[in-house]
Amino acid sequence: MTASERIAVGQALTPSRQLEGTVVTIEDGTIEAVQSRAAAERSPTRTYPDGIAVPGFVDAHIHGYAGDAVSGDPDGLVNIAEGVVETGVTSLFPTTVSAPQDELVAAGAATATAVDRDHDGASIAGLHLEGPHVNDDQRGAQDPAALRDPAVEELQAVADAAEGTLARVTLAPELTGADEFIQAAREQGLVVSAGHSGADFETATTAFDAGISIATHLYNGMIGFHHREPGIIGASLLDDGVTAELITDLQHLHPGAIELALAAKGHEGCMLITDAIAATGLPDGEYSLGEMDVVVEDGTSRLVEDGSLAGSTLTMDAAVRNLVEELGLDLSRAVRMATDIPARAMELDDRGRLEPGLRGDLTILDGDLTVQATIVGGEVVYEREAAREATRQ
Ligand SMILES: [Zn+2]
Repeated sequence: MTASERIAVGQALTPSRQLEGTVVTIEDGTIEAVQSRAAAERSPTRTYPDGIAVPGFVDAHIHGYAGDAVSGDPDGLVNIAEGVVETGVTSLFPTTVSAPQDELVAAGAATATAVDRDHDGASIAGLHLEGPHVNDDQRGAQDPAALRDPAVEELQAVADAAEGTLARVTLAPELTGADEFIQAAREQGLVVSAGHSGADFETATTAFDAGISIATHLYNGMIGFHHREPGIIGASLLDDGVTAELITDLQHLHPGAIELALAAKGHEGCMLITDAIAATGLPDGEYSLGEMDVVVEDGTSRLVEDGSLAGSTLTMDAAVRNLVEELGLDLSRAVRMATDIPARAMELDDRGRLEPGLRGDLTILDGDLTVQATIVGGEVVYEREAAREATRQ
């Protein structure tokens, strides 16, 4: 395999246009040109005649895939990164659930190790700690025994173990110590998000002003909207500085709730995530999420204990498809919500668009929006059987 390819597709979605008959040239892992087939100087190395080239999907919130959960085991992280390429993901942020401190430190160390490994998967872009500093009243499937108030020294210990690969932390901003924690996290260069929270409107707005820039799975794990106290949901919908994560499996959110977020924030203010657990890509059955037992039935994952939704079995390609097919969004908007917008929200400026100078991360979709091929840093890491016309010499 080589990190240089000239990929011909039926169509390509660039930031400004939908191009027909395009060649995407990738040299040394970087996009060099996106041009019409007629303008391309050399013949393609691969051709997907009916393929639609889009930027590779960026999943900023994923707990596991195909039997592996995010944990202190670097092999598991690499397996997840190699697994999700069949769903079009080219960058992921492995996400922990609330756990004892030693397990979070181990996850930090595992991420540092996994990032340095050679593998044929998606780029492991950094660790996301979801909790443990979240609100017990809004814990969803987070382990109640592991919840605790924000503590800067805990964050510091994970950051040290992660050797620069800790990227993001989700907390409930109403907890004691949150202000200092948010400030410390921002000083570390981390993206800070609010979730599993009962924050009122004013507390949420203050936290957004202090540097929180993402609403973790907007609506899910949050106190409900009330017209006299719109709470963190109202504050997230109104604040242009906040990108709202949406789980668009059509189980976690009523289509109307997705439309409300899009109407309030525009697609520019919304990013798709999977929140996928280890059961994703596997049959229905009994699984776990951290210490919690879950059962997956018809693809929906719930806690055995109380029936709360427990992560999802959603994949990024399905998240995009649902928006296009069930909500009637145009493909370019839905794709941006899975690529450019999460990349920006996660403060990655080297990916998320088909644009010269950015990483050679591409996903090739077919007409029904299933994944034909996935290319990470110019290397074809996934190709569906019989997906391409064999033009390679
Ligand atoms: Zn989650």
